[in-house]
Amino acid sequence: MYYTRDKTQKVKIGNIVIGGNNNIIIQSMTNTKTSDIDKTIKQINTLYKLGCSLVRVAVLDIQDAKVLVKIVKLSKCPIIADIHFNANFALQAIKAKVAKIRINPGNLNNLKEFEQIIIAAKKNNVAIRIGINTGSLPKNIKTNTQIINLMKKYVSLCEKNKFYSIILSIKSSDVNKTITLNKILAANFKYPIHIGATEAGEIKTSCVRSTLLISKLLSLKIGNTIRVSISGDPYDEPIIAKTILQENGYDVDLTHLISCPTCGRCQIDLMKLLNEIKLITDLKPKNITVAIMGCLVNGINEAKNANIGIYGLKNKYVIYSNSKKIGIFNYNKVLKKFKSLYAKYK
Ligand code: SF4
Repeated sequence: MYYTRDKTQKVKIGNIVIGGNNNIIIQSMTNTKTSDIDKTIKQINTLYKLGCSLVRVAVLDIQDAKVLVKIVKLSKCPIIADIHFNANFALQAIKAKVAKIRINPGNLNNLKEFEQIIIAAKKNNVAIRIGINTGSLPKNIKTNTQIINLMKKYVSLCEKNKFYSIILSIKSSDVNKTITLNKILAANFKYPIHIGATEAGEIKTSCVRSTLLISKLLSLKIGNTIRVSISGDPYDEPIIAKTILQENGYDVDLTHLISCPTCGRCQIDLMKLLNEIKLITDLKPKNITVAIMGCLVNGINEAKNANIGIYGLKNKYVIYSNSKKIGIFNYNKVLKKFKSLYAKYK
């Protein structure tokens, strides 16, 4: 028996509620130096535009801690401060009115420091994610039972202080181990769970690991917020996260995009067109299907069945809109035509 998604406690993070029957929240993390305010804010607000409801920033040093007030002010979404080793940074982040702290209490000097953070968070309505990563476990903690007992110790301290705004996560770079640990987590705690593969690799590897892990846990109704982690461009993270949710049947703001793998029959520069269209649809997602196909073999039907469909024919682009043939265009015109058709959808 698990505390499934709908049965978990609700936790407020700024204007977002995680847990209970609420939507699964997508989040990501910046890879800029947080004290570089301009770059960090640009990344936060682009991640928000791409579908992140929450964005996490690393607080590595005093410069990062100091700029949190400004980051919180300029951000379009609630900010999570990611703290390791230094309890004072967590206290400063709470003062700066971040919405949530992400901390692994095992990385602090002692539990007294964690308790100080709990008390400050409670006073200021800040949530805490207790995030245990198997990569940073104490040497004596090895088995799944020991890991869960460690989490129990941290959760008990929160509950002793009547602090319940907590989100839990246990991650390992091993997908199957993470699934097992999250199942045990959901069987033991009623708090929302943050899921995702950690240290998941570059985009191709991460896509496989993240999809496997997130889909498996969602099928068990485990997981209230997700992060796809990629060694690479953070802007890919929310798009992949939304695609995983969409393919699992969840309602997300994401244009349903179909494209063929291309083969020796391809009649157009499909990748060039696809990349241009993807930029448009990622930033302005609509609840429609767009198909981009290399030739008429599978292209005619896919194009006709889509809300906007394009297939290649002798270096030209045939466009359909809701089964109606719009015309045949060369590359200079096809994108313009696509944009005008796409703009008609809400
Ligand atoms: Fe090849 Fe045409 Fe099929 Fe694309 S639609 S994979 S180009 S046969």
